[in-house]
Amino acid sequence: MKIIVLGAGTIGVCTAWHLLELGHEVTVVERQAGAALETSFANGAQISVSYCEPWANKDAPLKALKWMLSKEAPLLFRPQNPFGPGLHQYSWGLQFLANCNDAAFERNVQQLVALGAYSHAALKEVVASTGIEYNRLERGIAHYYCDQKSFDTAGEAAALMRKYGVNRQVISKEEFFKIEPAYKQFAHQIVGGTITPSDESGDCLVFTQELAQRCVARGAEFLYEHSVERLETAGDAIHSVAVRALSAGAKGRNVPGSIRLIKADHVVVAAGSYTAPLMRTVGVNLPIYPGKGYSATFKILKPELAPFVSTIDDAKKVAISRLGDQLRVAGTIEVGGFDLTLDSSVAQARCHMLSRRIEEVLPGVCDTRTEAQGGQPNYWTGLRPATPTNIPYIGQSPVRGLWVNAGHGTLGWTHGAGSGKAIAELIHGKKPEMNFKFYGAQA
Ligand SMILES: Cc1cc2nc3c(=O)[nH]c(=O)nc-3n(C[C@H](O)[C@H](O)[C@H](O)COP(=O)(O)OP(=O)(O)OC[C@H]3O[C@@H](n4cnc5c(N)ncnc54)[C@H](O)[C@@H]3O)c2cc1C
Repeated sequence: MKIIVLGAGTIGVCTAWHLLELGHEVTVVERQAGAALETSFANGAQISVSYCEPWANKDAPLKALKWMLSKEAPLLFRPQNPFGPGLHQYSWGLQFLANCNDAAFERNVQQLVALGAYSHAALKEVVASTGIEYNRLERGIAHYYCDQKSFDTAGEAAALMRKYGVNRQVISKEEFFKIEPAYKQFAHQIVGGTITPSDESGDCLVFTQELAQRCVARGAEFLYEHSVERLETAGDAIHSVAVRALSAGAKGRNVPGSIRLIKADHVVVAAGSYTAPLMRTVGVNLPIYPGKGYSATFKILKPELAPFVSTIDDAKKVAISRLGDQLRVAGTIEVGGFDLTLDSSVAQARCHMLSRRIEEVLPGVCDTRTEAQGGQPNYWTGLRPATPTNIPYIGQSPVRGLWVNAGHGTLGWTHGAGSGKAIAELIHGKKPEMNFKFYGAQA
């Protein structure tokens, strides 16, 4: 069958790859000049099957209220005009609140663990069959706590995860330093940790771009620098996609600004946060809302002192991952619309917090100098396609032949390979082997 994939982030490219594996003809439409240039560009790099707790939990509303006063807070709700662009934000917020209870939390964890396990296996298959190298480190993910009260709750969370087959162990401070000695310089602050040995880390951008090249080698067409203008329907089914050429293209064949219709048997929308506005044009309302996050990537100055094990800093809720000769720190979420600015006072406070934290926990290991100090920090921001449950929409929409693979929020890199494989199987008429509630499937 002929299938169009909208979006060449990690989700769209993994979708394309798995459709090719099943023998389909694939066209990918992407507005950027290459793959993974938006949210999949500089994320926390963690393949985090075992740390997948949704943001919505019973303590989240109170914490979010308290955090509204701090520019550096891990979760920041920035209210928009409810009679304008804020309408979808409020409706998303209400659905988020409805998930802030133990029953919903546990239900959501179960789904996320199932998708994570399926996805990890799919990632390993792709890596084994393609040989892609992307600064992968199969060293687990370690999580450290800096206050006793938070560490005391770690056991409860680990027990819940073990109930669903996840191997998360609570470890003492001494055990933590045996696993990752790099943080010994910060030993006076750390009270203990947890470890999930089967998790890993690696560069999502490199992986996705390499996979996109392999898709092209297998015959997929990538229409880069083409924006999706409209979805055209005929009756209750998808008919075609109207795409606009944004440039003349590498071979100079396109007329910039021109629009053409491309037809296919099926269309998969994998446009990250932009999936929701696109789907609304055909009357399908999905609660996918941008969750702005930040990362900073630093040159490692002292390789012998830099960590190999990918880490979560509980106090600041940031992920720290080594990518070759660089160290990436990423985190925080801001629910405040389609805003990609890096120069606002909130954005600057959040970016500087990342630099400061790396200097605190790994003093002198990286070049963390800010612009004011004469440095060139590599700050970045991306919009996580967040759902109120953290569970993505994978499946067929009410418009026949129009599929969705979006809403992966904080875990799109972790869930990318499996989500791509699952949607390809669904389109192919095969039921994916996992206990997951697919979008549009009968209960
Ligand atoms: C700070 C931060 C840290 C993170 N850390 C991790 C982590 O450690 N582990 C993890 O698993 N996940 C992490 N994530 C989440 C992960 O990065 C995302 O879930 C994932 O990148 C989403 O991929 P995507 O393909 O859905 O979206 P995107 O990568 O945004 O891809 C969507 C694509 O669609 C294209 N597009 C949109 N609209 C149109 C249009 N109209 N026409 C043409 N093209 C269009 C865009 O250009 C884009 O390339 C993190 C995210 C952030 C922001």
